[in-house]
Amino acid sequence: MSAQSGQDGSASIAARYAQLRAQVPAHVRIVAVSKTQPVEVIAAAIAAGVTEIGENYVQEADKKFTALETLAVTKHFIGHVQTNKAKAIVSLFDVVQSVDRLEAGRALAKAAAAIGKVLPVLIQLNISPSERFGVAPSEAAALADALRRETSLILDGIMAIGPLDAPAAQTARAFETAAQIFRQIGGRTLSLGMTGDWRAAVAAGSTLIRIGSALFGARPAPARVED
Ligand SMILES: *Cc1c(COP(=O)(O)O)cnc(C)c1O
Repeated sequence: MSAQSGQDGSASIAARYAQLRAQVPAHVRIVAVSKTQPVEVIAAAIAAGVTEIGENYVQEADKKFTALETLAVTKHFIGHVQTNKAKAIVSLFDVVQSVDRLEAGRALAKAAAAIGKVLPVLIQLNISPSERFGVAPSEAAALADALRRETSLILDGIMAIGPLDAPAAQTARAFETAAQIFRQIGGRTLSLGMTGDWRAAVAAGSTLIRIGSALFGARPAPARVED
């Protein structure tokens, strides 16, 4: 069927990952965003050298991670944090990149404390009018202070989604805002950049890019809408 499946699919994921890894500076981590991709495709990516994956939807990730259990890979939650799913998120994921309000942070902290886990988190910053989620830059420092008081969380930096289909200057300005807030807040991770804008993100100081379509090809439409 598509070039994604079977032997050819695995080969092309390996080639795409190698090509991307060669273009991205060595200090910048690549998280392979595997939402909507089936387990076999994720396994092929891991076989090709991918060490970190990102998922947006809790139920989808739960099903896929069960099948991927034996594969050593760091799992990032990059979707919207619903407080009623905090327990599941904390048990499934190693890092949560998308804490955009104190209520979400507290729910994650409580769930982490309950299972004796210390969870690395990033604050999701809103730097684009096209984005629904993310804390406003002016409120990021206060959220950071509050999250740092949660002993079962480690605040490790900032995540942001750039403006979609924006002129280069607007993207650069948005990423510069994120980099500035990152310098204020501290941490090791500035998660900035996707398939369409990772070069601009790296130029602005990104330490982690989140890549879906450049590795896996265009995404199939999601089977269901969740949060
Ligand atoms: C889907 C998604 C990505 C990957 O997008 P691509 O454009 O396919 O690389 C990155 N970050 C987040 C938060 C996403 O939801």
